[in-house]
Amino acid sequence: MTISHRCALRGPLLTFKGDPFTMGDEACVFINDALVVINDGHFEQVGDAQTLLSSLSDDVPLIEYSDQHVMMAGFVDCHVHYPQTQIIGAFGEQLLDWLNQYTFIAEQQFADKSHADRVAGVFLDECLRAGTTTAAVYCTVHPQSVDAFFEAASLRNMRMIAGKVLMDRHAPEALLDTAIRGYDESKTLINKWHGHGRNLYAITPRFAPTSTAEQLEMAGALWQEYPSCYIQSHVSENKEEVSWAGSLFPQCHGYLDIYDHFGLIGQRAVYGHGIWLTESELQRCHESGTAIAHCPTSNGFLGSGLFDIFNTIKRERPVAVGLATDLGAGTSFSMLQTLNEAYKVSQLNGHSLSAMQAFYLATLGGASALDLDSQIGSVEVGKEADLVVLDLCSTEAINFRMQYVKDITEALFVQMIMGDDRAVAATYVAGKLQYQRSVNN
Ligand SMILES: [Zn+2]
Repeated sequence: MTISHRCALRGPLLTFKGDPFTMGDEACVFINDALVVINDGHFEQVGDAQTLLSSLSDDVPLIEYSDQHVMMAGFVDCHVHYPQTQIIGAFGEQLLDWLNQYTFIAEQQFADKSHADRVAGVFLDECLRAGTTTAAVYCTVHPQSVDAFFEAASLRNMRMIAGKVLMDRHAPEALLDTAIRGYDESKTLINKWHGHGRNLYAITPRFAPTSTAEQLEMAGALWQEYPSCYIQSHVSENKEEVSWAGSLFPQCHGYLDIYDHFGLIGQRAVYGHGIWLTESELQRCHESGTAIAHCPTSNGFLGSGLFDIFNTIKRERPVAVGLATDLGAGTSFSMLQTLNEAYKVSQLNGHSLSAMQAFYLATLGGASALDLDSQIGSVEVGKEADLVVLDLCSTEAINFRMQYVKDITEALFVQMIMGDDRAVAATYVAGKLQYQRSVNN
């Protein structure tokens, strides 16, 4: 006897079949009354409920969401630090002082596996509460912080990218590895976790100033050995950081060129921030397929600058951009809150980010920046069934506001401006309900 793992969800659905920045509304699919059939963790059927319901067997569990809801692909956070969950909202400093005064203190606690276990669990549960089902995550320099993270991600069956931070200078002694040790430990972790279940490994030099040339070189060599892994790091976040990086590698032509020099850019290389990248550096990102993670709440919080997404993705040389929380310099787990800030930053740069562009960035755009768009990012037959259900009336104020919206585009724009984790009614991971908002909040 075969046991069926099917279930079905019915309700309004938004998904993307392309990029609304280039295709406009053609890229968006909205079905007012959709049926999504999930089998063995994948979407098996997606379409109009009236058409599909007649062929749905009676023994398949059916969950119905009212027209006060919208189902969409789970959110994708392209750059975040789980060990910084305990320092969100640390007052008063910009990047380099903030690292020394808060981050490097907190990260030392991750030598203790039980601490790492606890924070990884809190972090992933908060992701689920916010509707985020995939993230590219920095652990600490300690290999046990990576084990803790992937163990917790595996328990929840989430598609996660993560890696051990590489640092062999300019940080407290307790957080330093060496070029060789960083290479060896990363290699062991790759063999243990990369491609096991839904876990994927990212070789993670924190940023050029905390690695010697030798360490960056070995990171590049490791990527050549394991090209299906990711590279994640930071670039051009803060002006002081940009000039420091340049002074440490005087032989290179600018910040991005340091990574380029050591073979650390290309497809599946994801760099946080990129606020101060020059036109020629953006051109190099475009040519090489290097992606940038836009972290608007973090950039505002640390006073780093206003990332110009419309310039970065411009048609003549589009650079892949995903959206990211960058906790703990970022201030919210909520992708809706992150979109709110992304909208404001765009406004200050003279462009208005539309609701459809924004939700694309939070789903398929992010998946695409992470080279995962054939597995996740849209609600499409064959893809992995990661899905979030938004409640469009999650607070009294939003409920009132919703009485005056004219269409789904406006309704979704209201969500990204006024909504937060309370707007997430349910989160499904590989077809399984992993979070459901309780009726009391
Ligand atoms: Zn970061």
